[in-house]
Amino acid sequence: MISNLQTPIDYLKGVGPNRADLLRKELGIHTYQDLINLFPNRYIDRTQYYKINQLQQSNADVQVIGKIVGFKEIAQKQGKRLVATFQDDTGVMELVWFRGQKWIRENLKLNTTYVIFGRTNWFNGRFSMPHPDMELLEDHEKSLRSAMQPIYPSTEKLSNKGISNRVVVKIMQQLFMETNGKFSETLSENIRQELKLLSKSEALFNVHFPKNQTLLARAQFRLKFEELFYIQLQLIIKNLIHKSKIRGFPFEHVGIYFNSFFNAHLPFELTNAQKRVLKEIRADLGSNAQMNRLLQGDVGSGKTIVAFMSMLIALDNGFQACLMAPTEILSVQHYNGLIDMCKELKISIKLLTGSSKTSERKKIHEALENGELQILIGTHALLENKVKFKNLGLAIIDEQHRFGVAQRSKLWHKGPPLAPPEGRGNESLPSGEIRGASIPPHVLIMTATPIPRTLAMSVYGDLDISVIDELPAGRKPIKTVHRYDKNRLQVFKFIRDEIAKGRQIYIVYPLIQESEALDYKDLMDGYESISRDFPMPEYQISIVHGKMKPADKDFEMQRFITGKTQIMVATTVIEVGVNVPNASVMIIESAERFGLSQLHQLRGRVGRGAEQSYCILMTGHKLNNDSKTRLKTMVSTSDGFEIAEVDLRLRGPGDIMGTQQSGVLNLKIADIIKDKDILQSARFYAKKALQDDPTLSNIENKVILNTYKALGKYKNIWNYIS
Ligand code: ADP
Ligand code: MG
Repeated sequence: MISNLQTPIDYLKGVGPNRADLLRKELGIHTYQDLINLFPNRYIDRTQYYKINQLQQSNADVQVIGKIVGFKEIAQKQGKRLVATFQDDTGVMELVWFRGQKWIRENLKLNTTYVIFGRTNWFNGRFSMPHPDMELLEDHEKSLRSAMQPIYPSTEKLSNKGISNRVVVKIMQQLFMETNGKFSETLSENIRQELKLLSKSEALFNVHFPKNQTLLARAQFRLKFEELFYIQLQLIIKNLIHKSKIRGFPFEHVGIYFNSFFNAHLPFELTNAQKRVLKEIRADLGSNAQMNRLLQGDVGSGKTIVAFMSMLIALDNGFQACLMAPTEILSVQHYNGLIDMCKELKISIKLLTGSSKTSERKKIHEALENGELQILIGTHALLENKVKFKNLGLAIIDEQHRFGVAQRSKLWHKGPPLAPPEGRGNESLPSGEIRGASIPPHVLIMTATPIPRTLAMSVYGDLDISVIDELPAGRKPIKTVHRYDKNRLQVFKFIRDEIAKGRQIYIVYPLIQESEALDYKDLMDGYESISRDFPMPEYQISIVHGKMKPADKDFEMQRFITGKTQIMVATTVIEVGVNVPNASVMIIESAERFGLSQLHQLRGRVGRGAEQSYCILMTGHKLNNDSKTRLKTMVSTSDGFEIAEVDLRLRGPGDIMGTQQSGVLNLKIADIIKDKDILQSARFYAKKALQDDPTLSNIENKVILNTYKALGKYKNIWNYIS
């Protein structure tokens, strides 16, 4: 019989109310099930036994079989130490105790075979082992504890209150005894056979009491796979539900706007990646489901044109479209770029930002509501309640990591009311699914902060993902170097040479919220010294930072864009999206203070034209290891995904947008970074199970369905399914 794993931990023999309380408070263990899922952090390999004459001074923890043949007490400065002579058939060593000597003398037997375990020292021409772990050979042999000894997660309080690792091991043994080590299977026969997985019972036994390294590895694999499998299953189901429940307007035609742009006005040949992504978007827009797609593309990969052409499809179907960007500078730039592309197409397009004048706003609001305005570009200002669309069909968010989830969902509710626009029959709408609400526009979210695909799958598993993984042809790789502050003169000479060739330069200073005043001072000092080294009228310098009024920022930005200034001194406000193809040098001051993804973003501001571009990372002399790794990574690669992987290793997934909600941080055994191959396989099998049997109602999938439902009920990691 399989016992009920929901039994409270208090009922386990050897636990009792006090220990139960501690286990609950310190480790969150409430039930048998929680205990069984307390996986060891590491193992001490006790598969090896050493003879005394094999011991070496470098031995770490060793295990020896032998007998105590005598005790002696040795006085020392404070108190005394107890020394036992321990021997096997190859030699003699000493065991030493500084505490608990009375107990040792009374309980350890002479001339009886023990297994001792611990770290050895070389002392007085002999090996000695202080405070060894000791066990009678007899007990050692029949103990359930296996050769690989588990070390469980613990807390200071637990060990202070006497719940040592040894106690946890005992409790775990008790659990296996009470349950006969039999646990319900949680994966289907098919999957287990195909991947040659251990059964659940075997896996649990071997993760707690592994017989050897091989079985341990197989047990861990099986449990990691299972953990990731159910997360993926849940995300995929969420996505499917989204698709079947949340209808979007089917954009059936690709019409005059799209086609005439594509045929006559496309400023360049699209890359294959851009074409592929456009196809994916078109397929989404043409289906009945609402599109909810994440477009990832490295800086400069050309996401904007994809966004624009998607908007044209919306327009072709009689809908409006909007594009929201995180900064004023970026929205202005998008607006100017799109105006250019729209010229021949006679599209009405407007810009709405925090600094739009009231009279202008009024006009925009009206034109949006009566449908005259087709495309609206802007900042957060788009989210204001006053902004109402007649029939918003597509909402695009650029650099989405700058926006919160709440803001994303706010755009959703700007869709048209239920009645479809003229010329479309009611029959194309699924009836009664979202009563009284508006129909959400299709949503395209763009980001240049590459998230490793594997992580994206777990974090944004409820979005579909497109990737532009190819840069437009003819881009020269940016040369990146690391220079110390003392090389500044050389760097300035280099800047002069580049300016003489007609190029433009960015010089960026860090801006970190907590020390804003200090950073501001750095920036101003830097600006002054640069003004001295690059004097007017020969050199013109722009400056842009967060404390400036939007209009002033814009003015300075425009001076740089139009080539009136050669140097742009700025804080990270220019990090996202800014596009000035003639700028070919990016100098990042105090580069050690920037995160990797930020450095990569900043570097992406150059290398946008035909000229060779450079990125110079300036730092002081003292660098910690993480900074060194970041700088090295920047110098050695320009692949955003590779950089993202390093970033993830350095910072952990916690800092990446969305991981908090997704539960990937609460993993019990799998590691989202180290186990990405298992994750991929888990996703594959989860997808396959749902493809073959969408409702998981076939007999062989029953176990999956049951486990899935049970997890939903008990586990906090599933809380975010709502
Ligand atoms: P990002 O993906 O970083 O937003 P942009 O859309 O700003 O990149 O594009 C970067 C630059 O590359 C722009 O100047 C754009 O006009 C240009 N570009 C985009 N696609 C292509 C292409 N297929 N061929 C040549 N240039 C392109
Ligand atoms: Mg962009």
